[in-house]
Amino acid sequence: MCTASFSRLLLRLAFLALTTGCGRLPAPGTVSSRGGATTHPVVAITHVNVIPLTAGGHVLPNVTVLIRNDRIAALNGPLPAGTKRIDGRGKWLMPGLIDMHVHVPTDTHFGPPSPTHAATLFLHTQDIMTPYVANGVTTIVDLNSRAEHFGQRNEIARGDVIGPRLALAALINGGEGPGRIATTAADGRQAVRSAKAEGYELIKVYSQLNSETFQAIVDEADKQGLRTIGHIPNAFRGKLAHAFVPHFGMVAHAEEFSKQATAFSDQEAQQFAQLARANGTWLSPTLTTSHQILRQTRSLDELRASSELQYVHPLFQSKWLTANNYNRNTSPERIAYWEKLVSFHVRLVQAFRAAGVPLVVGTDTGTSGVIAGFAVHDELEFLAAAGLTAEEVLAAATRLPAAWLGLGQEIGTIEVGKRADLVLLTANPLDDVRNTRAIAGVFVNGRWLKRPTLDAMLAKLSKRYTAMKGHYDWQQTSGR
Ligand SMILES: [Zn+2]
Repeated sequence: MCTASFSRLLLRLAFLALTTGCGRLPAPGTVSSRGGATTHPVVAITHVNVIPLTAGGHVLPNVTVLIRNDRIAALNGPLPAGTKRIDGRGKWLMPGLIDMHVHVPTDTHFGPPSPTHAATLFLHTQDIMTPYVANGVTTIVDLNSRAEHFGQRNEIARGDVIGPRLALAALINGGEGPGRIATTAADGRQAVRSAKAEGYELIKVYSQLNSETFQAIVDEADKQGLRTIGHIPNAFRGKLAHAFVPHFGMVAHAEEFSKQATAFSDQEAQQFAQLARANGTWLSPTLTTSHQILRQTRSLDELRASSELQYVHPLFQSKWLTANNYNRNTSPERIAYWEKLVSFHVRLVQAFRAAGVPLVVGTDTGTSGVIAGFAVHDELEFLAAAGLTAEEVLAAATRLPAAWLGLGQEIGTIEVGKRADLVLLTANPLDDVRNTRAIAGVFVNGRWLKRPTLDAMLAKLSKRYTAMKGHYDWQQTSGR
């Protein structure tokens, strides 16, 4: 763990703590749309089964969790007069979920560059964030961030938007993009220094980087106190070991390894796992993404019928259903290829787990078919199906990503002093990880949002998007 990055993130959080409305609590059943409230009510979740998800920690039955100024102030301590009580009897409380790999859409411009590059698509940040919050996701990591994402983050920090904590990664690629382009080691180092100066916390490395540039970026990122996550560049095909340079922090997809596979054997999976293990590189398998790609390569019918599609902006619904790259060039060979990948990814996860490589939850939300918030629960299920215990699965979405991000002192477990990023469940997720969907309420950014509030937020979003449908056609808008 790089201590420079760790302390800077802590500083940033301390700053956010000072600048956000701590402990802001809307009236029951309503969602305040504006920041600026000055009251800081003290809240207690009473008589709840706490799943702390500390390393080796056990369930703590019948605990009263006191929350003050968006932090866990006490477990079973005395309740000050005026404390607002939330009845936790018969329920389970776990840390808020973390998605290590998302792509948050922003206001954008399509077509040829205009003199000002003014946006032609405008999005409401609350619309983008509601599905995360409603699914108990309290921290997300955007892996191709731009200046617009800082604006979204500020809206959340100010309390104007109810949303998760947002960590931002600058993407560096070779070739033509996406992201910043660097084709020499010197340019790669400069791209990292620029990203740092602009305020990004992480560096995302991408497929078209050449070997020297990739290695220089990873090295410079560490020197600058930034962690590196991303793809294994195509340049390392056939010489995979050379990609495992010190401080390459996390591989963003199991597919990065399956692209390197020739035999698709357990032995090969174990070799990959040993490389990662020896280098201290973690893995976010994004099993959800490969399942979605396979599903869409076969047919779009399931996606079209999905009840979660109503929470996707109509423009992206149009893109996914009318200009879907996975489905457009489909063939029996492609379907067979993705079937092979999906089953190999399970064996990769098993090999990495056996080798002791930490696995964390990432979804690649924004990829067609992968829907914000909901996809986290899909990923939990896929990891459980691949053989992780329920506790390992839950840690992969809480304690482990928090630690990797350098936020282990702030989030990821339920402990006194930590942020009150909390999900209240009506069923025990240690019995079955699908119970993470049984959300009775979410505590995020100083606000308690009970189920009826979350449902109202989702209903409002669906209504807005339904009303906008017909105004957004992907081919027309994008000129593609
Ligand atoms: Zn991605």
